[in-house]
Amino acid sequence: MSPTALVVADPRSPVGIRTTLEALGAARALLDRSGGGKVALALLGHGLGDVPEAAKRWGADQVLVLDDPRLAIFRSETYAWGAEGLVKRLAPPVVVLLPGSTMGRELVGRLSARLGGGGTSEALELELEETRGLRVRRPLFGGKASETLSLPFPAVASLRPNAFAPSEASAAAPVEAVELPKAGPAGPGAELLERSPVPVSDTPPLTQAPVVVSGGRGLRGPENWPLLEDLARALGAGLGASRAVVDAGWRPAAEQVGQTGASVSPQLYVAVGISGAIQHLVGMSSSRCIVAINTDPSAPIFKVADYGVVGDALVLLPPLTEAIRRARAGAGP
Ligand SMILES: Cc1cc2nc3c(=O)[nH]c(=O)nc-3n(C[C@H](O)[C@H](O)[C@H](O)COP(=O)(O)OP(=O)(O)OC[C@H]3O[C@@H](n4cnc5c(N)ncnc54)[C@H](O)[C@@H]3O)c2cc1C
Repeated sequence: MSPTALVVADPRSPVGIRTTLEALGAARALLDRSGGGKVALALLGHGLGDVPEAAKRWGADQVLVLDDPRLAIFRSETYAWGAEGLVKRLAPPVVVLLPGSTMGRELVGRLSARLGGGGTSEALELELEETRGLRVRRPLFGGKASETLSLPFPAVASLRPNAFAPSEASAAAPVEAVELPKAGPAGPGAELLERSPVPVSDTPPLTQAPVVVSGGRGLRGPENWPLLEDLARALGAGLGASRAVVDAGWRPAAEQVGQTGASVSPQLYVAVGISGAIQHLVGMSSSRCIVAINTDPSAPIFKVADYGVVGDALVLLPPLTEAIRRARAGAGP
């Protein structure tokens, strides 16, 4: 029997929408490789406004809308309960694909536990097995190794950002409103007492950004970071850093890329004034295209770079940023 793929959307931010489209693209490609099947998109929330109208053209065959006050803010407890209700309405076998956003990563454990099948995060490759379920390849140890898992149905996987091609715009799919049972999720569960707003940054989150610009000790000091921030803004990039600059207190720990920091795999990684120590490379060498700027032509970063510029970053960054701004504005270099 053809499987059904359910994608749980994260429509609250541009990153959430992009990773949702990647999950829809991955779902369609997965089913097409195995003889077809239906792709359903789940929209969970409250006061979704015009989101369902936009989402019906994101490439699913069907859009299921759960609009309920209990889903007004994202909590893995309530969202896993809501998504479980949707999975049970679909014809088995079911594969649930979650976006590579913070929401998707938070939901995967609780949802797979509720469904009683198999679950994993950071999927890089997906394949349906004849009878058992979903085969998933995922990275391990910051990308130094990988493993392949076989998940029984109903299988749940959150995807690695940027690993799958996004779905194409489609004809309008039918939208169906679904109601949740009056009784909430069973079990004691945690009660939400208070939530503080997340500080708003004008650069996208590091681990989900399609472009990352990272700085190292070659930038000489925190006073030069505005040069890097300008470049990141021009590219719509997330900001990263080497451990040396984090240890020096120039940048917050959340920006560190590498073995003891974040693992990133953007389409483009720009390493500025970073030597390319192995502990840094394990966190970024799976990036699709790597550009390095360094004064030392023998810096190890050039061994993994697709494009390298030997020169002083403090001199090169302002004209580079300006050229990118002009090119993106359509004025040419
Ligand atoms: C257990 C362990 C875990 C670690 N985890 C991490 C990790 O997660 N992430 C991480 O990054 N590191 C990690 N490290 C540290 C790592 O070994 C390196 O020390 C660190 O990555 C070096 O940072 P850097 O490249 O900024 O500095 P440096 O190695 O000092 O390199 C600075 C570079 O800037 C260049 N430069 C100087 N001036 C300029 C200029 N004006 N313009 C352009 N280039 C210039 C230099 O040629 C040099 O290549 C770890 C180390 C250990 C032991």
